[in-house]
Amino acid sequence: MENWESYVRKVVPYVPGEQPDEKRMIKLNTNENPYPPAPGVLRALRESDADRLRLYPEPDCGTLVRAIADYYGLDASCVFAGVGSDDVLAMIFLTFFRSEKPVLFPDITYSFYDVWADMLRVPYEVRALDADFKIRKEDYCGECGGVIFPNPNAPTGILMELADIEDIVSRNRDVIVVVDEAYIDFGGVSALPLIRKYENLLVVQTFSKSRSLAGMRIGYAMGAPKLIRYLNDVKYSFNSYTLSQPALALGVEAIRDKAYFRETTEKIIAVREWAKGELKKLGFSFGDSMSNFIFVKHRSVPAEDIFEALKKEHIYVRHFSGERIRNYLRITVGTREEMETLTVFLRGYLESRERIVGEKEKEL
Ligand SMILES: *Cc1c(COP(=O)(O)O)cnc(C)c1O
Repeated sequence: MENWESYVRKVVPYVPGEQPDEKRMIKLNTNENPYPPAPGVLRALRESDADRLRLYPEPDCGTLVRAIADYYGLDASCVFAGVGSDDVLAMIFLTFFRSEKPVLFPDITYSFYDVWADMLRVPYEVRALDADFKIRKEDYCGECGGVIFPNPNAPTGILMELADIEDIVSRNRDVIVVVDEAYIDFGGVSALPLIRKYENLLVVQTFSKSRSLAGMRIGYAMGAPKLIRYLNDVKYSFNSYTLSQPALALGVEAIRDKAYFRETTEKIIAVREWAKGELKKLGFSFGDSMSNFIFVKHRSVPAEDIFEALKKEHIYVRHFSGERIRNYLRITVGTREEMETLTVFLRGYLESRERIVGEKEKEL
């Protein structure tokens, strides 16, 4: 090894879901929204003035931060914006997870947490979900260097009760508790009201899922002004111009359109509930997802086989290799038409698979 190589920060990177670029595909693998962004976003995009791109964007993301604060009825000092919630979460790890004690998160969860922890040399411990893939709140109430979990959890989709979250926050007053609410708009109850009561709580959300702007990269954290100040200090020490001018302008339009937001999230919830019924009939089991994806396991056909068969049909879903979850598939909720194409294909495929297995069993 060359000498310089021994000084490299060696990391095992996060592996994002595939972004295939096929004309005719059904993309249900990275939890994007199947509906376009709000009409105001499209208008602002069309009317944008390219000459202004000569100038740096607002370093404090002020217009967007104020629009987010207005939407939630908060003071702007309670909001921090970043380049997707991944950026916000990375800044949170960098700013607040500095204890020698381990940060706690579930064994089955967003697979970026351990990547940030390893990269930043943050000690951590994972706590196993119970047999039904639920977070056990008791596991997060001992001494630790911080707590982070998504609610609803990913990739399980399972929601934790607000009272249980409050328990975790109130029993960890010496450290920061982060609730990653990437999927909260699909039927969950946000922990946001708790930020007035607990100075150690950060609630993180994103425009990528419920606001159809994954490609624009906008995320934000909400918490006590003191927490937001610390986050901004680290951000300005890292990269002051984070969100681009277009991202700031389009984000404002997206958060202002409450009617469109309600309409599209309600549609996704309705399609999800319909899809749950269909998948159950096809022999899948799953926890009660409150997100825009369903984490399913089939009674007889291995997840990997289903994954490959779907891929041949240009239908993309997500398969993870973790030990406890390798027989599961995470299926993003698409449009009703997309989900119908999916279930029609699965019906034919699974019936023929189960028939072959049945015949082999008879032969034996
Ligand atoms: C999608 C996702 C994020 C990150 O989303 P951004 O696109 O970076 O805003 C964060 N946490 C969880 C649990 C997610 O699923």
